[in-house]
Amino acid sequence: MTLSEDQLYRLRRIWATDIEGCPRSQEHRILGAPKSPRHFASMRGSALHSIQENIIKKAENPLNVKIPELHDEIMESLSEEIMVMDKWTRDTKIDLSKAEAEVKFELDLGDGYSMVRQIDILTPECIIDLKSGSFNGRVGKHIIAELAMSHEAVERGGEGRRDCYVVYLGGSEAKEIKVFKDNNDLNDSVLNAFSRIEDIIKMREQIKFGVPLRVEPSNICAYCDYRGICRGI
Ligand code: SF4
Repeated sequence: MTLSEDQLYRLRRIWATDIEGCPRSQEHRILGAPKSPRHFASMRGSALHSIQENIIKKAENPLNVKIPELHDEIMESLSEEIMVMDKWTRDTKIDLSKAEAEVKFELDLGDGYSMVRQIDILTPECIIDLKSGSFNGRVGKHIIAELAMSHEAVERGGEGRRDCYVVYLGGSEAKEIKVFKDNNDLNDSVLNAFSRIEDIIKMREQIKFGVPLRVEPSNICAYCDYRGICRGI
């Protein structure tokens, strides 16, 4: 199989969210497979991100975002999280006065590969990831990997060390958690993420040469963009 230029471009760009994502989904995206109609949860997530960005940028009307379908249902389902987010921005001890939203970084991984990361909120002291669900007692390993790579991207850009936080917006009030307890914890997480990225690059080379990938269907299949064409394993 020979990949087109567009397919090769997508093959070589690894999103931080791919680190703990489904390999088959990456294969479908790289090859340009047709997507299923967007799942409600996915449209809701995009709308929430846009509103969060507007709140951080202090937009005049933060709720004024483009929602092509199911506008009223989505806005109604987001009302509590928007209130929680708004309250958190006023109550948090983190200085958000110079915060930027949705900041994109691209990290060179060598051999033509790069890692792409979009950071929800970046301040001169902190990197903050916003999550729409509730905290279940443990920060997920995908969040740890994504924040570790966010930090690596920021630091390699010469912008120095920052504290990393995840803020859960589900429930009656925000739950703000500092993710790495010290530099050793951060360094270990960066090394773990790089080790996973090595596996992803090996997997991408398999895709390049048309070698079938093994995956297990899981609960994320229900929300997947490729659920209409994918048969899992
Ligand atoms: S439907 Fe499931 S197995 Fe298939 S690409 Fe999506 S997440 Fe992966």
